[in-house]
Amino acid sequence: MMRLLVINHNFHYEMEKLVRIFLPDVKIQVIRDEKTDDFELLTEIGDEIIVTAKLDNFSKTLKAPLCQDNEMQMGRMVYALFSEYTNFYPKWGVLTGVRPSKLLINTEKKLGREKTEEYFYNDLLVTKEKYRLARVVADYEERIISASKENSFSLYVSIPFCPSRCSYCSFVSHSIENEKAKNLLPQYVEYLVKELEITGKIAKDLGLNLESVYMGGGTPTTLSAEQLDRVIGTITGNFDLKNCREFTVEAGRPDTITEEKLRVIKNNPVDRISINPQTFNNSVLGVVGRRHTAEDTIKIFELARKLGLDNINTDLIAGLPSDTVEGFRHSIDTALSLNPENITVHTLAVKRASGIGADNPQIATENANRASKMLDYTYEKLNGVYHPYYMYRQSKSAGALENVGWSKETYECAYNIFMMEECHTILSCGGGAVTRLKAPKGDEIERIFNFKYPFEYISGFQELINRKNRISEFYTTYPY
Ligand code: SF4
Repeated sequence: MMRLLVINHNFHYEMEKLVRIFLPDVKIQVIRDEKTDDFELLTEIGDEIIVTAKLDNFSKTLKAPLCQDNEMQMGRMVYALFSEYTNFYPKWGVLTGVRPSKLLINTEKKLGREKTEEYFYNDLLVTKEKYRLARVVADYEERIISASKENSFSLYVSIPFCPSRCSYCSFVSHSIENEKAKNLLPQYVEYLVKELEITGKIAKDLGLNLESVYMGGGTPTTLSAEQLDRVIGTITGNFDLKNCREFTVEAGRPDTITEEKLRVIKNNPVDRISINPQTFNNSVLGVVGRRHTAEDTIKIFELARKLGLDNINTDLIAGLPSDTVEGFRHSIDTALSLNPENITVHTLAVKRASGIGADNPQIATENANRASKMLDYTYEKLNGVYHPYYMYRQSKSAGALENVGWSKETYECAYNIFMMEECHTILSCGGGAVTRLKAPKGDEIERIFNFKYPFEYISGFQELINRKNRISEFYTTYPY
């Protein structure tokens, strides 16, 4: 437990986020405006800015004069003290936001390119390497976003079921190893079909233009071939796909993918799939509870190619429990040997009580350094063959490192960018799905939440449909 003393300011939330860059899973108790020596971190605004850290045998105070941006200054002081304490210097500096490239684009609109670069280096303490990454991503994002029109939208379809649960999973997904969850699946598909029909009608009545479709989860290929065909058929039968530039099915876990399901995908207008190894090390797969082997992934990948699927993404994760830098290099090399169109490399986000020790400074720093070396290798091997085209950061990821989508030229996944940069409406269907309405001519965003769990989704279906009335109201308020 870390006691964070906050005196005379409102920046505690940002200071907590900064501490978690160094100690992703630490519990923080905020103590407000109390004069006490019982703290690990003191942050105070008075005649000057004062930050004191008392951590194990490390004790140090920094002071700085008040300035135009006291919050940012205080953040840099917290960063300096924790860097010295842990001997770890995060490459994204004090930047805690989840969308660095969006920040870069927005800052450039106000300050221009040169001043933005200075801001990233001098104010945010971002390294040149990460700034350049954000720069390349921003350029690709802008190119894809510029093709989106005012009445554009994307469709997200959620299948929150998986064959078993991976130990690191932070999604709401039900393992069909559980009989109750398995028995819900047929009913879930019935309701999902109804929701898709209703949503399709709303989109048509509003004259919205469908740009991309993404079926994710969970693991959509947990559905049987017939169920998969029914859901995809409902999408193609109820939405106008003539301007749709991309239709992804995140097949996901190789242990759910069969030739029959791949044929269903191929026989429908799906043009992008994801087959996710996460790692090509069998011992790591065993540790994280994935019931497939590296060989299964390779076999399914080759089968998909044989059936003519020519736009495939593979997901890898840096920093999985028990993985090594050497092991991760093997995963990157194997993924490259398969020659997919996209490779998405995530950095593991630490779950509380995961046993990974992310509240221990030494272990957290080791995890961060290991993940950083894994990403260094990724950049070394992928750069030139692929380019980074979308990126986001999750809270509690090792070293506050990023997740990056790499693509061959012209194969960038448009949905990933639309969703991440919130540039147009995402209509979402299914359990746990969130519709994000984006004003066509402004920045207003409104969210409509579906019920999270399949059981609630089914029992609360009418309420959920009532909530969808808000879509038309929103477009009446914010017409295109
Ligand atoms: S396959 Fe993905 S969604 Fe399913 S349990 Fe594993 S990490 Fe979670």
